[in-house]
Amino acid sequence: MAEKLLQVENLKKWFPVEGDKLFSKSTSVVKAVDDISFYIEKGETLGLVGESGCGKSTAGRVILRLIEATEGRILIENEDIRALTSKNLKQKRKDMQIVFQDPYASLNPRLKVEQILEEPMSIHLDISKKERKERVKQIMQDVGLNHAYIDRYPHEFSGGQRQRIGIARALAVNPKLIIMDEPVSALDVSVQAQVLNLIQDLQKKYGLTYLFITHNLGVVKHISNRIAVMYLGKIVEIADRDEFFDNAKHPYAQALLSAIPRPDPKLKRKRIILNGDIPSPVNPPEGCRFHTRCPYVMEECKSISPELKDTGNGHWVACHLR
Ligand code: SF4
Repeated sequence: MAEKLLQVENLKKWFPVEGDKLFSKSTSVVKAVDDISFYIEKGETLGLVGESGCGKSTAGRVILRLIEATEGRILIENEDIRALTSKNLKQKRKDMQIVFQDPYASLNPRLKVEQILEEPMSIHLDISKKERKERVKQIMQDVGLNHAYIDRYPHEFSGGQRQRIGIARALAVNPKLIIMDEPVSALDVSVQAQVLNLIQDLQKKYGLTYLFITHNLGVVKHISNRIAVMYLGKIVEIADRDEFFDNAKHPYAQALLSAIPRPDPKLKRKRIILNGDIPSPVNPPEGCRFHTRCPYVMEECKSISPELKDTGNGHWVACHLR
């Protein structure tokens, strides 16, 4: 069995919300991430999918300690990064990077490409200025950017090129884990496939490990080795990619899959229409979080939260029917 690069154990991120009534001191909590556990093997891509507001992006930020967790453990190569001092965390940061959805908002508009790529190197890598210049050249080549553009500013690039700069910046410090947070969602469809292929090529070349966060099941099918589905702060299913697309077991995952158009009309799936919207993560439903929308809801679902259980072959499901 391959070595695990990332292990997340019982991770929680709850945000307090101030009472909205005058003179009320009551606080509620948004359970954005509520007791999730999973691992990613070295060189693997785990796709983390779910509708907007399900907590997947918050999970990514908590794993990198961009925001602090409420509870739980985050191990990178068996080292608990929540236990690191700020000095040690700074050193560890080079191992774990993030690529954001909106490359324009995440790049400093006042810096040229060369400065954007050199900046993290000068913080994290003990190399000379000459070596940094060489490395900038190599990375620009790796991500398919012409080195002649080195003096340009982010606004002088297209959306796809800007995302290539974002990826190059993450690569600059030679990381082990990259969290890709909806990295192609803001791009034109025609450019998405190119950037996805680039992300895969870089993984092969540098042995990278990815947590790939997206709402798009087509993208996740293209890029992932395994898939985890989140609903209202909980992981409800984890399985190998092919197993998931052939045999999803959680009613929520089945409903998501039923909405994907299939090219062959003979293979048409019956569309499962879910009732209502996702409930608020402020005081989410008791029991199974999905029970207010589930077509198979039973009495026990309203009070007992289902555990994520291994149903065989690494296919984990949180549902009382399984
Ligand atoms: Fe539906 Fe109950 Fe399973 Fe939740 S536990 S998904 S409500 S059947």
